[in-house]
Order: sequence, then C-alpha cells, then structure tokens
Amino acid sequence: MTSPRPETLAKLTPVLTKRWLSPDAWRIGTYEQLDGYAALRKALKAHPDDLIQLIKDSGLRGRGGAGFPTGLKWGFIPQGDGKPHYLVVNADEGEPGTCKDLPLMTHDPHALVEGVIIASYAIRASRAYIYIRGEAVHAARRLRNAVQEAYAKGYLGRDILRSGFDLDLVVHSGAGAYICGEETALLDSLEGFRGQPRLRPPFPATHGLYASPTVVNNVGTIASVPPIVLGGPAWWKSMGTEKSAGPMIYSLSGRIVNPGQYECGLGITLRELIELAGGMQPGHNLRFWTPGGSSTPLLTAEHLDVPLDFEGVSAAGSILGTTATQIFSDQDCPVYATYRWLEFYHHESCGKCTPCREGNYWMVRVYRRILAGQGTPEDLDTLLDTCDNVLGRSFCGLGDGATSPVTSSLKHFKQDYLDYIEGRTAPRLSDKALVGA
Ligand code: SF4
Repeated sequence: MTSPRPETLAKLTPVLTKRWLSPDAWRIGTYEQLDGYAALRKALKAHPDDLIQLIKDSGLRGRGGAGFPTGLKWGFIPQGDGKPHYLVVNADEGEPGTCKDLPLMTHDPHALVEGVIIASYAIRASRAYIYIRGEAVHAARRLRNAVQEAYAKGYLGRDILRSGFDLDLVVHSGAGAYICGEETALLDSLEGFRGQPRLRPPFPATHGLYASPTVVNNVGTIASVPPIVLGGPAWWKSMGTEKSAGPMIYSLSGRIVNPGQYECGLGITLRELIELAGGMQPGHNLRFWTPGGSSTPLLTAEHLDVPLDFEGVSAAGSILGTTATQIFSDQDCPVYATYRWLEFYHHESCGKCTPCREGNYWMVRVYRRILAGQGTPEDLDTLLDTCDNVLGRSFCGLGDGATSPVTSSLKHFKQDYLDYIEGRTAPRLSDKALVGA
C-alpha cells in the first residue's frame, strides 16, 4: 500500500460525506449539532423561485448518471396549474459497482430528508416520496427513523417551522428491480403498477406521478441542496470544473487496496483516485475499468488521466454515469466480466421491448459459447450486429447500456475473445453452461 501524496489528499472534498465518520450523525440531535437543518431554516425565508435560481446558479447537475441541470429540471414544473406537485427521490441504486447513495442514506439520512424538504418547498410540492430499493433494508430503516424524527421536531408535517409550508414524506421500498431505477418505471411502480418505462413525451415535469407535475431526482442530487443553500453557488462551483461543478462521490471497487467512497471535485482522474485508495493491490496492474458503472463503455490503462467529469469522460468515448469505478487488473478477463454484466442485464430486462429482451438473451448465449471454447470468429460479428440492433432501438436506457461493455470490450480486447475461440485460453465455462442457453 502506498500513502497518497499531500497534493492528492488535498483533492478530497468531504461535503456530502463530511458527517459519515460521526457515529451518531443519523440521529437528529447529532445532525442538528453538525449544521443540520440550518439550511432549511434559511431556505424557508427565501422565495421558492429564488431557491430554484440558486440551484441553477450553482451549476448542480444530476448525480444519478444523466447529469441533467437540476435547477433547470425544477424550473420545468408549471406553477399556478392547480395540480398537486410531487418530489420523488430515486434511491433505487442498482447499477453494478455503484455504492454511493446507500452509505449516504445509512450514515446521514437527515441530509437527504432536509434536501427533500427544501426541494419540495422550491417546486411547491406538498407530498414527497423516497423510493428505495427493496434490498436496502438497513438504509430504509434509518430513513424511516429520520422521517419520524423530523416529524417530531416540526421539520415535516403542517406549517413547517411556522413558515406556512406543509409537506408529507413517505419512504417507499421497491421490490428490487433494476429497471425501477429508470424514472418513469419508478413512477409506475410507485403507483402500484408493474415497473416498466413509460413512453415520453409527456415528461414527468408535466405528467409524472398520478399524471401530475413531478421532479424525480437522485439521492446525491437532493443531498447536495442543503450545502449549496448554506455555502452558496460560488463556494459550490469552487469545486469541480467549469461545466461539471461541485464535489462527487466516486465509489471505487476492484483491484485496489482500499475500496470505498471517495468524495472529490468533479474532474479528478482515475490515477489520483487509485492513489487515494492506496494504489493497486500487490501484483496487479490496471487493465480496464468502468468510469460510471457497467452501463458505461470500458476504459483502459491509457485513460488514467482522463478528467472524471461529464465532458472529460465523454471526450474519452465513455460516460460518467454513476461514477462507479470498477477497477480490473491484468489478472481479470474482460470477456468473462462482460459476460457477467450481460447476464445481469438479461435478468433485469423488463421485457417490454424486443431489442433488449431478445438481444440480451441471444448475446448471453453467444458469450457462453465463446467462454466454453466453442465460439467462432463469426460470433464476434454476431455480437456487434446484435448491439447495432439494440443500441438506439430499445425503449429505455437499459438496452443501450447493456451494449456498452460488449462493444467497448470488443474494441479494446478483441484478442482476448480470439484467444478463447482459437484455443489459446482455456474454456472458462463447461459445456453444461450451453444446456438450455
Ligand atoms: Fe424493458 Fe429493456 Fe425495453 Fe427498457 S430496453 S423497456 S428494460 S425491455
């Protein structure tokens, strides 16, 4: 293990993670001692439109993967329309390798609750939901406890802090379907239907939950609101880059010494993140990695100095996504890793559209054949052809995302595929994997 240099350590910017090391920060008393609910008191004295402008000025972009400007999204909510407005927090974190929202909700649930109240006030919502994935039992328990504590202290309910603003907040556990992380599938699930994406337009801003104006934001996005209200847009923009402002929680996993969450200004590089994480594990050399979960095209050791912000990663041919950096070494097989991801997408495909439902099914079959040592060179063309018919032709982003590891691993590591096909690499799967495939 190598210790990070002081100049790299200085790149850590604990804003959303700053209370994580306080053992009791999840209790409201401790949270209040650590600046908790100070932003709410300040926000309730401002006009809702001024809060929306503040978030626009901060340059905050969605932390769930798409990076859409948050203030702009809030500004889409029509005012004076006589309809109820809703805020829905997407806490259905399920992208492989991603682990930033669950620790936030576990260690600092009031940060999210406070952000929900401020955001709801800004968009004039009197009811808000946090949709959390079903498996996250402990985080959901912490959140429900935080919501109860907030009601008891007058931060939720009627006439919050004598401002005249009313808000009810419900924590809803899903049933563990990856597709419910897609915002319209999430809304269908919340309404009690099977979670499948909706046709857009209309967009949730006008026809969201119960066909009413709705903002759907990620956990990290909403938890960023209180610090922006307290610190101001200029302070927020002092971290990150010009177009990708603020700090971001990067979740690092794989062949590094200290996997975990590292919060740094957007634009840090993987080289620096690996240094913060104590370096690569002994005997391992970086070979490939995902910048933002398995739905983002793989990058390689050549991309160690790519700035990990929305623009920098795009310029390198990938997507920032959920900033889940999964790090693989020269002892890991890109063909097998891609196969495992595809199995996940195949399993999680909701089945609504043919390209994704059938394409993933067929690609899994081809991968099993290759990994069992029975592939042919034509199989590689079949994979690319299938990706061509899934990418851009699927109903939602799951289909598109599933093609990312396939096309990028074939681009960077075609020889690894050929080594299986031509017998230089021993089969990774037995013939049994082909039965019923
Ligand atoms: Fe469902 Fe996949 Fe189609 Fe999305 S792309 S609607 S997950 S079948």
